Amino acid sequence: MPEGPTIRVTGDTLRRVLQDQRIEHFESQFKKAKAEDWAGKVQGQLVRCVRVHGKNLFFDLENDWTLYTHMLMWGSWHVYGKTEPWLKEKRKARIVIETATHVVVLFSAPKADLIHASALAQHQTSELGPDLLKDDWQERDMHEAWQRLHVASETPLGTAIMDQTIVAGIGNILKSEILFKTRLHPLRHSGSLSHDEFLQLIDVSRRLMQLAYTTQGFKEVFLPPSLQQATGKLGYVYGRSGQPCFNCGTSIQMVRQGPLERMTFFCPHCQPFDPANPPPLKELTMQPLYANSVHTLEEARDFVLAMGMIGILQDTKGKLPTLWDAVDFLDKQPGEGGWGEKMGKVWSWKNALPATYPDEIFYGKIKGGRAVLMSMEKLRALYQQYHKPVEQCGAVAQQLWKIIQQGSIMTVPLRQVIGMTDRKERGLFDRALQELQVTFNIARSNQPDVEGDIWVPFTKQYPQFAEHLVHADQTPAR
Ligand SMILES: [Zn+2]
Repeated sequence: MPEGPTIRVTGDTLRRVLQDQRIEHFESQFKKAKAEDWAGKVQGQLVRCVRVHGKNLFFDLENDWTLYTHMLMWGSWHVYGKTEPWLKEKRKARIVIETATHVVVLFSAPKADLIHASALAQHQTSELGPDLLKDDWQERDMHEAWQRLHVASETPLGTAIMDQTIVAGIGNILKSEILFKTRLHPLRHSGSLSHDEFLQLIDVSRRLMQLAYTTQGFKEVFLPPSLQQATGKLGYVYGRSGQPCFNCGTSIQMVRQGPLERMTFFCPHCQPFDPANPPPLKELTMQPLYANSVHTLEEARDFVLAMGMIGILQDTKGKLPTLWDAVDFLDKQPGEGGWGEKMGKVWSWKNALPATYPDEIFYGKIKGGRAVLMSMEKLRALYQQYHKPVEQCGAVAQQLWKIIQQGSIMTVPLRQVIGMTDRKERGLFDRALQELQVTFNIARSNQPDVEGDIWVPFTKQYPQFAEHLVHADQTPAR
């Protein structure tokens, strides 16, 4: 089924060909077209405007009639030159529109109406929810979507977000992928959404749909290319029931939902039905699917961005995917000196990734002290959750921060400057340094080709990030 982004691309094409053009000839196979004399009302008219709302197309004519079409699952619009041969059989043409230069044909679409302006407000399309792809999505659209979702508070999310009278534009593939990305179980009732979950749902929906629209398809929207190749699938969950989740290894499941029994795919661990009591993660008995899927630094970047956040070294008990599992290099062989190829790559790429892609990838430590690589999106989320002003950090951390603020400095000289070199004080020093990292007051410098860690104030390295937060504070609805 064409989804909102696809219809919008079609709308753009039809607008280029039809808008401000006069319809010289019109014919339609619909029975009601003859009964209602559509040809008489359409022929000779100028097309004032071609509009898209969700999956619906509207052609407004200068005499206040509007041609409405919906492609449902199998319809398609074709644009031809006047003498160009058609790619489909003429008997399947439902609507043919001719201008001075083009022939525009709607094949196989079962749904069309000719509506007068005075009756538009009573047409079924007047019940559509706000269009997620509209350019000027505003606070009132957000409010309207929230209210419409709450009217359907007993409806499961997998049905509700496909319901075009709640929000318009989401189709079956987007549905599963949006719910996975927002970690929402498809059987949760709409009414159980917190306002924050709702804001994230709309934000993610709009971003994925916008990307599908600008790239004209789903190839660049969900999985990175290396994982698409590994699975033969476009998405994290869509069409993958029985296969392991990329995030946690649990088997992807499928439920049928809604009046048409459409398939919804989801990960029962990553999208817990009850977020307060997520099901325990079963021991992984197999290698994760992404194992050995990364061969180059660029693929490593894709991997980090696809996962959001990854660990660096092997960690069989941990919940995070790791760079160690992902890279396709040989582990140290018996008798081999040094680190081995795999460890060498992992160790150098953990530095090379943020150094090469400083606007996309962040290296740091998370609560508990684990070293990770993450996307900027993830960083923003963790920052909001864990940032503490330095004045609220411990006394040693505050002293360290004062030194780092005066100029970037490496770990060993920092320890000497503050005079915490004996063994007892080392633990104290390490914990304070970690506290500054975990609370996002300092960052490791992205300066390439330096052995060891150089510490800089966080906002010095990420000023654009600080600006973003100021912006986000001013517009809390986003
Ligand atoms: Zn999962």
